[in-house]
Amino acid sequence: MLELSFLGSGNAFTAGGRYWSSFLLNGCYLFEAPPTLLPHLKRLGVPPADIRAVFISHFHGDHFLGLPFLLLEYLHLTPRREDLCIVGPPGVEKMIEGVAEAAFPGLSHADAGYRRRYLEADAGREQTVDGLSFQAFRMKHAGENLASFGYRLRLAEKVLAYTGDTELCDELFALAAGADVLVLDCNYSQDKGPEHLSFAEVLEVRKRLPPSTAIILTHMEAEPDVSGLEGVLVARDFATFRFP
Ligand SMILES: [Zn+2]
Ligand SMILES: [Zn+2]
Repeated sequence: MLELSFLGSGNAFTAGGRYWSSFLLNGCYLFEAPPTLLPHLKRLGVPPADIRAVFISHFHGDHFLGLPFLLLEYLHLTPRREDLCIVGPPGVEKMIEGVAEAAFPGLSHADAGYRRRYLEADAGREQTVDGLSFQAFRMKHAGENLASFGYRLRLAEKVLAYTGDTELCDELFALAAGADVLVLDCNYSQDKGPEHLSFAEVLEVRKRLPPSTAIILTHMEAEPDVSGLEGVLVARDFATFRFP
């Protein structure tokens, strides 16, 4: 079974009062680490030490600036012994350790009793984190200089694909191939805009994917109208979706 719990479902502007998009998969794999990561894990009742791996799609603040607070929690309040794996674009270790050190001087080098293991996304190659194999896909978002990745992985005999932030592109369909669940950027609820998908494009994606792929929309500015549409779910802050 796949179980996705959303820590947030909004875009960078927290439009409509939605918090920054992020979800926890099967209680231990975290996708994105927004600024509200720590309070929202606690609000969902997830013990912070349960997180085994964090997948970061790209280095926009709504996707990674919550990590220093999680690392601070591990240092002072919730000890952990097992390694914490952090997957992200090339340069992920330097970026995350740098931000942690800037946020709380000494945090990066403090001995907190566990190791952080970093893994750079390498599109087109089968990679493994915490015994879980996954593939990264280079998505189209905010220009060539900002590497942005989608991730696809198999867990509990199901396939989950997550786009991160992206425009409509061929890679999106490569990423979504064979997915039981696709978590999809739907930033624009009305007209098309730059760097992200719009609801009109989501409809196009829905048409091209088989009905066996459930789509969950996230990173939204407003509630899209999915009435009468099969296989499209809308994420909400603190909502949980289960796929048996
Ligand atoms: Zn974003
Ligand atoms: Zn972004």
